[in-house]
Amino acid sequence: MKTTASPKAPLPVPTPDHLEERSLRARIEPMSVLALGDGLYEVESGSESTYLVDLGAGRCTCPDHVFRDARCKHIRRVAIEITEGRTPPPGEIAVECHDCGETLFVDEDATEPCYCDDHELRPGDTARDRETGDRLTVVDVSDYRADAVEIGTTGDTVAEYATNADYEPDVPVVGAVYPHASVKPNGVVPSSLKVYVFPRTRLEKVTAD
Ligand SMILES: [Zn+2]
Ligand SMILES: [Zn+2]
Repeated sequence: MKTTASPKAPLPVPTPDHLEERSLRARIEPMSVLALGDGLYEVESGSESTYLVDLGAGRCTCPDHVFRDARCKHIRRVAIEITEGRTPPPGEIAVECHDCGETLFVDEDATEPCYCDDHELRPGDTARDRETGDRLTVVDVSDYRADAVEIGTTGDTVAEYATNADYEPDVPVVGAVYPHASVKPNGVVPSSLKVYVFPRTRLEKVTAD
């Protein structure tokens, strides 16, 4: 999974007069923090040194912590960034939205592709087929993968379907109907409508704008 680090820049200093030196350095030095999962964070400091912080254990691989047993500026920086929402808390990692690149925090076990609120598909949403430009109404977003769901009578999977060749085989499938049928958020589908199945990445959410 592609994970993203926080920007390597100083943080805003609220009240520098009252901060002790390590706290101040934890804020004002350029450092970028990358959540690795399992409560581990990689901290790259301005001096190009990279250290590993285990937040739960309160440990860091830097000399200040290893030799002086200090709550070093790296541990502090990770804690500050989590508090301020710049870095995901333990159990989550930062990833980019598949469609817009916005950084979002997701469960560390989440699978790609990930989507921000604006691009997440839910039943009732309108989606655009990237292949044809057609608009469809989403009726189901599944956990099943395109390379596991068979369509038709040939035994081919969604991923093997010819027009899906350009889309990843290991993404979830989405069921959708033509044309704009009215579908309630609870996913009730009129029996006359045929549901077509697409790899998730082939559909793009159509947002009202
Ligand atoms: Zn450290
Ligand atoms: Zn997005």
